[in-house]
Amino acid sequence: MTCSLIELKAVASVAIDNHKAALFEVSDEIWRNPELGFQETRAHAALTAFLERHGFVVERSFSGLKTAFRATFGEGRPNMCVICEYDALPEIGHACGHNLIAEAGLAAGLGVKAALDNSGAPAGMVTVLGTPAEEGGGGKQLLIDSGAFEDVDVAMMVHPSPVTALMPRFLAVSFLKVEFSGKAAHAAASPWEGFNALDAAVMAYNSVSVLRQQMKPDWRVHGIISNGGAKPNIIPEKAVMEYMVRTPERIDLKLLLGRVRACFEAAAQATGCQVEITNSAPSYDNLVSNEVLASLFAENLKFFNVPFTKTTTSSGSTDMGNVSHLVPSIHPKYAIASSSARSSRESIHTRSFTNLTNTPTSHESTLTMAKCMAHTCLDVLASEKVLQEVKDSFEFDTGTAV
Ligand SMILES: [Zn+2]
Ligand SMILES: [Zn+2]
Repeated sequence: MTCSLIELKAVASVAIDNHKAALFEVSDEIWRNPELGFQETRAHAALTAFLERHGFVVERSFSGLKTAFRATFGEGRPNMCVICEYDALPEIGHACGHNLIAEAGLAAGLGVKAALDNSGAPAGMVTVLGTPAEEGGGGKQLLIDSGAFEDVDVAMMVHPSPVTALMPRFLAVSFLKVEFSGKAAHAAASPWEGFNALDAAVMAYNSVSVLRQQMKPDWRVHGIISNGGAKPNIIPEKAVMEYMVRTPERIDLKLLLGRVRACFEAAAQATGCQVEITNSAPSYDNLVSNEVLASLFAENLKFFNVPFTKTTTSSGSTDMGNVSHLVPSIHPKYAIASSSARSSRESIHTRSFTNLTNTPTSHESTLTMAKCMAHTCLDVLASEKVLQEVKDSFEFDTGTAV
């Protein structure tokens, strides 16, 4: 028997609803045991066990990354890739709600699998890809480097947020580690013998703050001093800063990085210190949302009566940006804890947001988004014409047309 697309979508939604309790449980376990990037061993174990239990072919520690995984079902093309994240933040736990992203990925995978399983559905497969260390580790870039996306046709994920937005802005970002080296001396007896690395860091910090006046409104530079010396009676011989530099497009990022580097180099020169500037993680690209996928997703949001806006005015960054330059992708944001387009004033990376990412309503919103992802996958799986439109739109956006 061959089902219609509407019937396939209903099969996907029912499968997600039928596994609601188990999905909540996995998400809850990840939330209660927050793990930092590349250390997500409990999450990796829970997610892969769930997928294996539900009939996926699972590759643990995929591509040599300990906490990455790939789970597949079906065969042939197109290969629809649903992406999970599951790393937490230091001190404030799941303040970015990646436990919910994992839940959404599992649920969407289950939904598409049920439809493929059930229906005499068209050829194709679904991949649930576990991507570690989104919070500054660039897990997706490492997976890209190892060829994990070579056989992927379409990639998607959703991210909890204060707002629901179809094509949110995400900035390109570079991660810098800045190490100043000076010379230690007794800070009272012979301070003139020292070269003060902390002074270099403070001057650099202030120079970057002054530079901010001349930056475009949507450029962002922010950093911390992660090492400012050992004791107050020693002139610090070492100081370390960590910075993130962001712009809407990669081309501007190069420009801004040049200006920021000059602040670090000038501070080193003024204090007689040396400076070493390195990238502490792979850079993230800005997100290119595929218009065709986004409009399919929008129709599916409307089906579930979810209000949404098209885009956002401000944003962070994501390594999904790198994926979006490689394969057609979407990364909608969704409001949790409310059915309105705007759930609350709580922004991500706050303790209040951590509290919102493990409530019954946030799980409900997450499963609705999972259904929208599953339905969007089925829209593409069911029609070669739609797949071609998605690819044409991607080629237009990224300039890869020949
Ligand atoms: Zn985050
Ligand atoms: Zn996040």
